[in-house]
Amino acid sequence: MKITKIDVMMLKPNQKVEGTASAGKIDWANFDRNCRPVVCRIHTDEGIYGDGEAGLVMVGVGGLAAAGMMRDFAKMIIGMNPLDNEIIWDRLYKQGYLTQNGGPIVYAAISALDMALWDIKGKAFNTSVAQLLGGARRKEMRCYASQLQFGWGKDLTPAFLTQDYADNAKKAVEEGYDAIKIDFFTLDQDGSGFIDDQRCGLLEPYYVDLVEERVAAVREAIGPKVDLIVEAHSFTDALAAVQIGNRIEKYNIFYYEEACTPTPKLQKYVSDNVNIPMGGGERIFSRWQYEPYIRDMSLQVLQPDLGNCGGITEAKKIADMAYVSDVSIQAHTCGTPLIVAASLHFESVIPNFAIHEHHVVQFRDYMEDLCTANFVPENGKLKLPEGVGFGVEFSEFALKNCDKWTVE
Ligand code: MG
Repeated sequence: MKITKIDVMMLKPNQKVEGTASAGKIDWANFDRNCRPVVCRIHTDEGIYGDGEAGLVMVGVGGLAAAGMMRDFAKMIIGMNPLDNEIIWDRLYKQGYLTQNGGPIVYAAISALDMALWDIKGKAFNTSVAQLLGGARRKEMRCYASQLQFGWGKDLTPAFLTQDYADNAKKAVEEGYDAIKIDFFTLDQDGSGFIDDQRCGLLEPYYVDLVEERVAAVREAIGPKVDLIVEAHSFTDALAAVQIGNRIEKYNIFYYEEACTPTPKLQKYVSDNVNIPMGGGERIFSRWQYEPYIRDMSLQVLQPDLGNCGGITEAKKIADMAYVSDVSIQAHTCGTPLIVAASLHFESVIPNFAIHEHHVVQFRDYMEDLCTANFVPENGKLKLPEGVGFGVEFSEFALKNCDKWTVE
């Protein structure tokens, strides 16, 4: 089999975001920051094709660069056997020259292509990606309701006031989730930025007290038997992360995600000084970048994004490395249903699976249009998609509504 053609696409979702807020002003038109999934479809001389996605959808920056990187990479693998995913991975990594030790743009491009190769392999052998990866040890993945500071469900209801956090959390728990994740740092009580890019170092009492008040209200609302993940999106630096971590430890936090800028030194400082398991990984790419966190166990839950860590080929290696240090894995998942499906196949296979992230962005109407299936948890659980490859592909709508560059 040979790769004959690669379509690199930036999708144009039918984006219309609405919602309500308890206080303050929200610019709804820009709330999802111009979501344009960057994806690819690899074609072969046997008529089989595979779909892949770059893990950039949630930030709205870097998409065009990743599409350009993918076009350059695509030229290097036309004519190769798509089943040789390991050989192709090394070619992309090494022959790009400056791409070794790359960042999100390089790895997002590698990841999308790698994902599409696994989809092809599944279709070629008439089996699922989970089967190719060694077999699903679980067919159902426990999910957490992710990013409840934005609300839960189709309606956006961002949390400003302490009661908003409690209300959003309760909504997810009433749907059957026994684990939730909230960023308590994004918005102040009037809807303006809270602990954001304008704030660093040790925090004044107002900030620490308000975070604790919010966490306490959520714990009270959900009771003692629901796992609570605290997300910081690296808004806090290492000093503030220790301040906050020590203050909220008593609320039984499942793990504390991206508590500081993701560097091994800072993460180790926070991990050494806070008695809560630490999560992180959506801004860490490849085995080489994960290795220090695994070696010193400064992260206990790794969150590789299959769309930017180097793809499925690389995520499996990261998971195997983590396994020898008793470090757990949860794929960072925020994208179209295709990347959700890829994450589920990967998570069904690995022994050190922690929990699956079901992101609030999955509820957006525009996400449903982009793929041939959508995945909605029932009772807080998602089933492994059936069918060959990932069991889902980009829809006719997605393929028609996109900017497309074809490399052949
Ligand atoms: Mg995160």
